[in-house]
Amino acid sequence: MDAAPHIVRTRVGIVGGGPAGLMLSHLLATSGIDNVVVEKRSHEAIENTHRAGILEHGSVRMLTESGVSNRVITDGDKHDGIDLRFGGVSHRIDFDALVGESVWLYPQNQVFVDLAAARRRDDGDVRFSVTDTEVLDLTTDTPKIRFTDVQGRRVELHCDFVVGADGSSSMCRRAIPATLRQGHFIEYPFAWFGILTEAPRSAPELIYANSPHGFALISQRNETVQRMYFQADPNEDAAAWSEERIWDELQRRVDGPDGLELKRGPIFEQMILKFRSYVCEPLRHGNLFLAGDAGHTVPPTGAKGLNLALADVRVLFEALDSFYSTGSSTLLDGYSETALKRVWKAQNFSYWMTSMLHTRSEASSFERKRALGELDSVVSSTYGRAYLAEAYTGWSHG
Ligand SMILES: Cc1cc2nc3c(=O)[nH]c(=O)nc-3n(C[C@H](O)[C@H](O)[C@H](O)COP(=O)(O)OP(=O)(O)OC[C@H]3O[C@@H](n4cnc5c(N)ncnc54)[C@H](O)[C@@H]3O)c2cc1C
Repeated sequence: MDAAPHIVRTRVGIVGGGPAGLMLSHLLATSGIDNVVVEKRSHEAIENTHRAGILEHGSVRMLTESGVSNRVITDGDKHDGIDLRFGGVSHRIDFDALVGESVWLYPQNQVFVDLAAARRRDDGDVRFSVTDTEVLDLTTDTPKIRFTDVQGRRVELHCDFVVGADGSSSMCRRAIPATLRQGHFIEYPFAWFGILTEAPRSAPELIYANSPHGFALISQRNETVQRMYFQADPNEDAAAWSEERIWDELQRRVDGPDGLELKRGPIFEQMILKFRSYVCEPLRHGNLFLAGDAGHTVPPTGAKGLNLALADVRVLFEALDSFYSTGSSTLLDGYSETALKRVWKAQNFSYWMTSMLHTRSEASSFERKRALGELDSVVSSTYGRAYLAEAYTGWSHG
């Protein structure tokens, strides 16, 4: 017979040590609210996973003002705009001039390093490399998380609340009976072929390029490493592409009369990133709350995934803090509705950017010309540019 699990009591049990889980843990700790994070991967594995890179100003303030770290400011790059490029011509969307805000280029794995360091510094309880995580008794006063820790011990966390911050394949979401949640879902007929390359920057800011050959994103990481993507078939075999073929494909999507030439270098990562838009409604079941990718995913075109995860956490933290300081569950009761308002705005923006900038392979000449008309109506109007700038840099947290 299995030994009885080791029981640990905490107020908030968090499944997932990504940006959502660790940020929530940090904020709760600043208010003296005891919590434990369980994470199935190792610190090293997460630190070496490359994902998002654009932080909205609100996300940056969250990291700096809550005392996580100032590294996003000292080591990240402030970007005051992006280029929308179509017909081979670049049109700058000047965020600073249009809405007085900016974004920061700062890789997600560095956000993780900062958050994990802050939790360590403050004696936070973060358990990496756990296995067999389960959540149970979610509609009772003592919801639980069971897992096997890195020493092989079976542990049972007894909590007031469980937070599912366990990413897009969320086990916590699946623990909500299917009849009590609604999934809103679409899949796109294209994916991104992404590369990381050791090369100098090809441009000072991100270039979102629409071309007859499909979309390309010319992005940066730092002085010596760059991130680029181009629209591809979701079933494309990334490993089958030679470096030369990848560079030629990227180049032809940005070719234009200004002679923009991408700076080539060795490619050390190439992968296919599939696109989907998903929202789970509601983000609560009993005393389980979902945050971040566990509750919703967006295509990366609007750079919203990581930022939405942090925005959820802001709302959830305020609700939990209010519960523990006043005993009122009003904000907790409103969490799902409040968080989903921003989620749907971000879903709309991500969908709009995706459909405006990508070209379906079977698109008619009408569709292609209409898309160019749409791009032109955005860049030739102050209001169009301002809408894009406001959404991209992030709506204020009302
Ligand atoms: C390849 C890739 C590229 C991306 N690029 C961009 C981009 O350019 N821009 C953008 O905005 N977004 C991008 N995203 C999305 C962005 O990375 C996510 O929105 C963000 O990571 C969400 O944070 P999260 O904390 O909610 O989830 P995650 O970062 O996924 O963290 C969830 C954590 O939970 C852990 N976990 C899962 N199941 C369990 C379990 N059963 N027990 C314990 N732990 C568990 C996971 O190991 C993980 O560490 C990208 C995503 C991918 C996959």
